[in-house]
Amino acid sequence: MTTTPGTLYIISAPSGAGKTSLVKALLQTDIDLSLSISYTSRQPRPEEMDGRDYHFVTRQVFEQKLQEDEFLESAELYGNFYGTSKKWINETMMSGRDILLEIDSQGARQVRAVFPVAVGIFVLPPSLEVLEMRLRHRAQDSLEAISRRLAAAREELSHAGGYNYIIINDKLDRALQDLKCIIQAERLKTAKQLVRHHGLLAQLTRTSVL
Ligand code: 5GP
Repeated sequence: MTTTPGTLYIISAPSGAGKTSLVKALLQTDIDLSLSISYTSRQPRPEEMDGRDYHFVTRQVFEQKLQEDEFLESAELYGNFYGTSKKWINETMMSGRDILLEIDSQGARQVRAVFPVAVGIFVLPPSLEVLEMRLRHRAQDSLEAISRRLAAAREELSHAGGYNYIIINDKLDRALQDLKCIIQAERLKTAKQLVRHHGLLAQLTRTSVL
């Protein structure tokens, strides 16, 4: 078996589509997939941990990193900055591991400009009512933050057509199964398999001496 560069998966969704739970469940079952930990200038929520959920930095530190061209992509969302480490992506990809980027559609567009073969997956809530309900049940965000996120969700939804796959997150188990199917199919693509199993193919196509 030979190592091929890892595949870059981009997963986007409006806030409240259940993307984070879906990604968490996926990472527990797929040991070949690494999640990119973004940098953000947003304040950590009570249950969040630095280095696990995000690299939490000040606005000033973020802007410095931006100036030094450390981000593969970045975006300003709800008044905070978010960005993906270029160095981490390049190193992880070259090690052959697959990478998951949990980023918004602005970031996805920037990543696709650099890696056109990145696989885009958009997660949709099953209905507007469910989306609203999920946003309102988020105790950690203020009412003002919730209504801002609802307006932003509508905007984000308009970009779903630019992705390779769309998953409807009605039931978590079903959505997780869909996500696993996409990743499995990508791993079985001929271009990947030919490199990964070139020894096997060479053996199977060698003229038999019998
Ligand atoms: P939250 O503040 O709820 O954790 O995330 C808000 C939004 O920022 C989500 O849509 C999430 O996908 C997006 N996001 C998180 N990290 C990044 C990043 O590094 N780049 C971009 N463009 N978006 C990000």
